[in-house]
Amino acid sequence: MKKSPDNTYGLRTKAVHAGELPDPNTGASAPNLVMSTTYLADPEANFSVEGLPADAPFFYTRWGNPTVRQLEEKLCALEGAEAAVAFGSGMAAISALFFALLRSGDHLVISDVTYAATAELTNDLLPGLGIRITKVDMSDLDAVAAAITPDTRLVYAETPCNPILRLTDIRAVAALAHAAGAPLAVDSTFATPVATRPLALGADFVLHSLTKYLGGHGDAVGGALLGRAEQIEPLRQKVAVRTGGILSPFNAWLIMRGMATLPLRMRAHAEGALQVAHFLENHPQVKRVIYPGLPSHPQHALAQAQMENFSGMLTFQVADGGAMARQLADRLQVFHYAVSLGHHRSLIFYMATADLQASSFRLNAQQLASLKQFAGEGIFRVSIGIEDAEDLCQDLDQALNNG
Ligand SMILES: *Cc1c(COP(=O)(O)O)cnc(C)c1O
Repeated sequence: MKKSPDNTYGLRTKAVHAGELPDPNTGASAPNLVMSTTYLADPEANFSVEGLPADAPFFYTRWGNPTVRQLEEKLCALEGAEAAVAFGSGMAAISALFFALLRSGDHLVISDVTYAATAELTNDLLPGLGIRITKVDMSDLDAVAAAITPDTRLVYAETPCNPILRLTDIRAVAALAHAAGAPLAVDSTFATPVATRPLALGADFVLHSLTKYLGGHGDAVGGALLGRAEQIEPLRQKVAVRTGGILSPFNAWLIMRGMATLPLRMRAHAEGALQVAHFLENHPQVKRVIYPGLPSHPQHALAQAQMENFSGMLTFQVADGGAMARQLADRLQVFHYAVSLGHHRSLIFYMATADLQASSFRLNAQQLASLKQFAGEGIFRVSIGIEDAEDLCQDLDQALNNG
């Protein structure tokens, strides 16, 4: 068996080869899909995951599966992480992290704008477990410093954040968290390891919805949590295996196949997004465009410092978003009017700020004002696929124009 590609290989080589060991029995070059739920066991083996070493033979698929393990190794290679646990969804990864680190009386500092389900989890479920939460605009370092207390057990950021594309300075927030003895977790779903590697910037945990860019084709839901082995391996045994939100081997196999082309796709996503962003900035119907790769993004300098690729997500605002949403859903030919993101096909969806505030964010007046600086009364969240950018611009043009 050949060894997995080591750290000296480039990202594209790692994306193709890392974790994918040819089958020692058949010589098959492509990774095997192992759907088996159980494995022939050593009669001496313990019937509990307690004390099981990380390199123990496969025993039961909820504890570990050969295909899922290959995906985890590929993720580690791309993020530069020691260890990864794959989950059945991004939210399963996020809730496992919260469940592992937070106890009654603990304090969580979290970005005031996050993926909606993360915001709803922290609004509705965590307080019932006695966990105290402070929401903070993570782009305001003074506010982050003021929010962290001696009881803070986790600082949680998302950059660029969904859906408004505000950025967090990972290095600066990691320093603030560590000064108080708290770890920093970063949801890096929008950036992907092609753009940003949060662990190298000082974060302790990285989260991904594999459903988005990593899988990349809109056909498999999955999630992952990465970090140092001494923190991730106990989390696998004590939480992931027991709470049970594990990734299906079939989805792992699909996502691994998608990941092989991640660096190529990210280049195409970013190129296309920049072209569409320029087009929209000059369109008479469009009031504002936000894209980290545009000089007009309020944090463009941070984007240049922290992102090697500006990714494929942009937002734009128009005069009457609700009416325009109906018009676009009706007229767009290439774009799909749908949620989710990071797929090879372009997606667009309208989010009204008042709806986001009522259903998910529930911000105070000051935070709401900051949200409106990025989102106005509502945004079209656009996930640029890998189609020809000229076709995407033409599609938007014919759909946006009146008459
Ligand atoms: C989609 C998304 C999630 C949740 O992932 P699922 O796979 O849908 O559970 C979490 N964070 C961000 C930033 C996302 O875009």
